[in-house]
Amino acid sequence: MTSTTVMPGGRELDTAPVDRLPGVIFQLHRSHAGEMHFPYLAGAGVRLIGIAPEHLALDARPALDRLSDEDYPRLMVALERSMRWQTPLSTRFRLPLKGRGTRWVALRAQPTPTSDGVLWHGMLMDITEQVSEEARLRRLSDTDDLTGVANRRRLMARLEEAVSLSNRHATPLSLMILDIDHFKGINDTHGHLQGDEVLRDVAQLCRETLREEDLVARMGGEEFALLLPLTPRQRALTLAERLCRIIEGHDFDVESRITVSIGVAEHRIGEGHLQLVERADRRLYAAKDDGRNRALADT
Ligand code: GH3
Ligand code: MG
Ligand code: MG
Repeated sequence: MTSTTVMPGGRELDTAPVDRLPGVIFQLHRSHAGEMHFPYLAGAGVRLIGIAPEHLALDARPALDRLSDEDYPRLMVALERSMRWQTPLSTRFRLPLKGRGTRWVALRAQPTPTSDGVLWHGMLMDITEQVSEEARLRRLSDTDDLTGVANRRRLMARLEEAVSLSNRHATPLSLMILDIDHFKGINDTHGHLQGDEVLRDVAQLCRETLREEDLVARMGGEEFALLLPLTPRQRALTLAERLCRIIEGHDFDVESRITVSIGVAEHRIGEGHLQLVERADRRLYAAKDDGRNRALADT
């Protein structure tokens, strides 16, 4: 299948056009017993896999063994489904390549039944740039511009997930809602830009005080929510009180002392996420009524 390509300057190259495609086209065969091999492999990407095509023509395992513990079972399920229902295969996975780091690869293939199994005709394309652009856009749409913490949208999505986990496994989950005291006065005295700076600092102090797996989000204005998985009420209240003291003692570079009020609620099994927010919110307003600069937890 080799053809001759004349290069500028009259130089001749013995390459099939298919070997210049930026990717891989392949046939993958899977026997009824589950053995897999690649009867056909072509494209510029084959070389990057770093496994001789002659080997893969006999046994696909050296290539499949490269997949991560997360991607391998996903690909196997996708193959299984495509085989069972004779539907096109469409998935993506990470592939570590020698000297080029780990690349994201998109796979598209069409199954055809054979006497002893299934034969897919398909292609692989490197989509690493596309995947990182998607991740960048996702981060942007999940992040509060001013403070860099999660925004309300992200909070609500995470909260729903966490509440459903807590309902399913009866694991503790607490929510804090924090509001800066007399923030209007800070803006009035120091201006909106200085107010923004205070918001950034408060967000940062929240982050530093919590664990990696906790979520800090800006609900809007000068109000933040802190979601604490696997944390029971008493521990959340202790943390909230600590946060009050840390913020009270922090030098914000403004004349007056800055304080916050915090409402805490622990998720009750069977309760929806909005009810949890509402209970934390009610405690926040009770903390304001009670004199501010304090944390109160729902019973
Ligand atoms: P309280 O102790 O009862 O919470 O009083 P407060 O003044 O903090 O509450 P209020 O709701 O009256 O005022 C909130 C202020 O927050 C009013 C608004 O101008 C300000 N604010 C909201 N969003 C922003 C922002 O993004 N940047 C700045 N600088 N100020 C904001
Ligand atoms: Mg306020
Ligand atoms: Mg407020």
